[in-house]
Amino acid sequence: MIREYAIIGGGIGGCSIAALLNAKGHDVVLIEKEPSLGGCASTFSHGGNHYNAGATTISGYHEGGIVRRIFDAVGITPDVISTDPAITIIQGDKSCVRYRDLERFISEIETFYPHAKHREFWTLIHTLGIAFYEMQGYYYSNQSGLMKVRSLLSLYPLVKRFWRYLFGNARDFITRFYGTLSPQYLDFLDAQILIVAQATSDKINFFTAVLSLGYAFNETHYPIGGMGAVCTSLTSKIPDVRTRCLVTSITKENDVYTLTTAQGPIQCKNLIMGTSHYESSQWFSDHAIKKYYQKYEKRNNHQSAFVLYMTIKTLTPYHHHYQLISETIIPHTLSKSLFVSFSDPHDTLIAPEGSYRITASIHTDTRFWTPLSKVHYQHQKKELQNLLQQWICDKLGIQNEEIVECFAATPKTFGRYINRTQLGGNALTLSNFLPRLPSNDTPIKGLYQIGDTAYAAQGWPGVVMGAFNCMRMINGKH
Ligand SMILES: Cc1cc2nc3c(=O)[nH]c(=O)nc-3n(C[C@H](O)[C@H](O)[C@H](O)COP(=O)(O)OP(=O)(O)OC[C@H]3O[C@@H](n4cnc5c(N)ncnc54)[C@H](O)[C@@H]3O)c2cc1C
Repeated sequence: MIREYAIIGGGIGGCSIAALLNAKGHDVVLIEKEPSLGGCASTFSHGGNHYNAGATTISGYHEGGIVRRIFDAVGITPDVISTDPAITIIQGDKSCVRYRDLERFISEIETFYPHAKHREFWTLIHTLGIAFYEMQGYYYSNQSGLMKVRSLLSLYPLVKRFWRYLFGNARDFITRFYGTLSPQYLDFLDAQILIVAQATSDKINFFTAVLSLGYAFNETHYPIGGMGAVCTSLTSKIPDVRTRCLVTSITKENDVYTLTTAQGPIQCKNLIMGTSHYESSQWFSDHAIKKYYQKYEKRNNHQSAFVLYMTIKTLTPYHHHYQLISETIIPHTLSKSLFVSFSDPHDTLIAPEGSYRITASIHTDTRFWTPLSKVHYQHQKKELQNLLQQWICDKLGIQNEEIVECFAATPKTFGRYINRTQLGGNALTLSNFLPRLPSNDTPIKGLYQIGDTAYAAQGWPGVVMGAFNCMRMINGKH
């Protein structure tokens, strides 16, 4: 039997497009190598303890938000709870809370980083964010000159409205806006920009900075039972989801794709790759397809994550998310900041009462980890793990005796489990923006691409935006 659509990779991207196609009545098979869905947004068990592998927070699930729209489109309500504040940012002796309410946040920021321009700046961020999320109808394809022009025309209302924020770098804009800016406040902004845009303010335009700094003004959500459960629920109406099903090679003949998998061959007319662009060429024998993927490999910035997992037993109450900022870049990483997420104290599906699971991540370069010898690798990993553990304990008041377990993952660990070492997708830098980004359609008949290395961006909102765009390309509605 030749399937209509096979989707390789059960990350947010693969799950989203599979769920949308299934909801429209298409024949779909979703294929994932690991025992459970989610990829970077999965939840795994370590000796019976459950941890989120990477992603811990959902933005875009507010009323009218893009993530809410996909769940509505497939008729599923995920088990999530609204969280406010989105993050507590700890820098030196300051502890600044990102409240959703603009006025409350302005009074917070004026307390910790006094400046006369804050009201104007943060009101601009707030207003532009709302204006962006209200706009719809644009799409993106870069498969031919004609499609590029048509995409740009669809994007025209957006460009017209926001053009003054699209050109030039965000750091210059922010510095001009404030007049004077302390290095500490700049680090505060950059830390928040980095976790969304995957680059700092000197490399992105101001509009991308707006969306990065503004996400905390939208409702954010916590996934009960772990992020993996959200991916599982999104795909729960799909009759054919195959986990533990590694795809080892793909051939194409007479417009039919044949996948060699751990559960036998699968043939399909349309293939949607939910794997990273940078790793995908290896599975294809078709020269044109290999060439297509290799063209994008030079865009691999080798940026990735070092992730620390911890269980603590304590009576101390914690917020869901913290960001710790140091004065200098942490050794063997690319960042001064660490994003630390706690499980909800009432979420007994993920941690027993009185315990918290912690997932803490920091940007690192894959090229630091991959060439190390086994002994050297273990040593560096342990060293960074200890340093981050100590930092978290010092800043958040965790006692050594409260730690039940602690271990870490490097880009190599992610390579082993989810077949990718580059994490966080494409950084939305000035040199890596539209129309250079790979789109969700490809020049090859029946081949599509989804996920955070294709349009639109990383994280729930960015990847889901790509899934809707992919549906548009599949339906020819452009
Ligand atoms: C540390 C970290 C923290 C993050 N925090 C957040 C957050 O809080 N909120 C947020 O929204 N986003 C967050 N993100 C970003 C977000 O997790 C990713 O952008 C998103 O999950 C990527 O989804 P994806 O579909 O592109 O691919 P992936 O998650 O990479 O999924 C690809 C899937 O393909 C499977 N696969 C690969 N090769 C094969 C094969 N040959 N056969 C079968 N299956 C295969 C893999 O096992 C994997 O499940 C974070 C990312 C990281 C790394």
